[in-house]
Amino acid sequence: MEAFLYESQAARVKFGVDVRKEVRKELESLGGKRALVVSTLEQKDLAQEMAGYLGELCVGVLAEAVQHVPRETINKGMAVVRELQVDSLVPVGGGSSIGLAKALALETRFPILAIPTTYAGSEMTPIWGITENGQKKTGKNIIVKPKTVIYDPTLTVTLPPRLTVTSGMNAIAHCAEGLYAENANPIISMMAVEGITALSSSLPKILEQPEDLEARSKALYGTWLGGTVLGSVGMALHHKLCHVLGGSYNLQHADTHTVILPYAIWYNSTHAPYAMEASSKAIGSDADDVAGALFDLSKSLGVPVSLEEIGMKREDLDEAAMIATRNPYYNPRPIDESGIRSLLEFAFVGERPI
Ligand code: NAD
Repeated sequence: MEAFLYESQAARVKFGVDVRKEVRKELESLGGKRALVVSTLEQKDLAQEMAGYLGELCVGVLAEAVQHVPRETINKGMAVVRELQVDSLVPVGGGSSIGLAKALALETRFPILAIPTTYAGSEMTPIWGITENGQKKTGKNIIVKPKTVIYDPTLTVTLPPRLTVTSGMNAIAHCAEGLYAENANPIISMMAVEGITALSSSLPKILEQPEDLEARSKALYGTWLGGTVLGSVGMALHHKLCHVLGGSYNLQHADTHTVILPYAIWYNSTHAPYAMEASSKAIGSDADDVAGALFDLSKSLGVPVSLEEIGMKREDLDEAAMIATRNPYYNPRPIDESGIRSLLEFAFVGERPI
């Protein structure tokens, strides 16, 4: 067995149907007395429901979160934080709501109690992202990692079918890349395999029956595992490409992950035999057809499989390949601009990778 380093980052996780109702007790144990609930405008009603459970421990709701955490939204949030003398943050929603709370925590060092409602996994990571002057900066700081996470599958029942699947593929992507991470270790790999198994088996059931709480629970369990993998080991080509495509061409986050994943795995397949073997067991395919199996999964669940379908323009592919290869980063297979340009061509057309 090879030597490895495993570092665990403590977080308290409460998981189960209706556990959101215990949010007050959880905030008390973090010492929060003046919480700000953070959400998007679309999830304001849910944010108000959470405020209701918190009672006088909640001083306000900030329903201003939008994708990619623009600086202007953080400034507005900081004004509210000061005015209401907030001491803790309770984001409820997907990566956008949790992202805004993380940006506020970066400035204030307030503890976060996160209540995720998508499968993006941000709640388990110390990674923050802020968009300023059209550029998205990301970084890692343990300060922004939520101290407590409440996973209540009931809250995911309202996720529309397309976002259920694409967000689930986003979680699978964390697991798939975690298996060939530069700093991979057996504990995180075990979580990654379990995450792929849980998500790939539950998504088809959810699509058939969106209110199936057993399947929803399994997907959310896979989400927790995927988020832990993302927060623990380094990612590679897939996450880099999604960051470039989302940041430079404004493609939707979960859609981009869904389209790119099979192609990134295809690109790396010959250079990551352990990861292919492990993923194939989890997804139920041959080890040399993991990329194809991921493509089939998305296709069978009716979500976009090509960059063209999600709004990418063919004339931007050359530039995207250039941006994605400008700075060196770890990837199991060496990266060069022409190889990435061909990958993007396949992804643009949406051809099954073989
Ligand atoms: P999102 O948070 O942008 O949510 C998409 C939309 O779905 C929003 O309108 C939201 O209100 C709505 N929504 C969320 N949950 C819902 C539910 N249960 N029912 C109905 N509607 C619901 O989407 P996301 O994919 O969760 O997050 C994307 C963002 O998160 C990106 O900016 C991405 O960069 C970031 N992210 C960060 C990390 C990290 O570790 N820092 C990890 C993953 C994603």
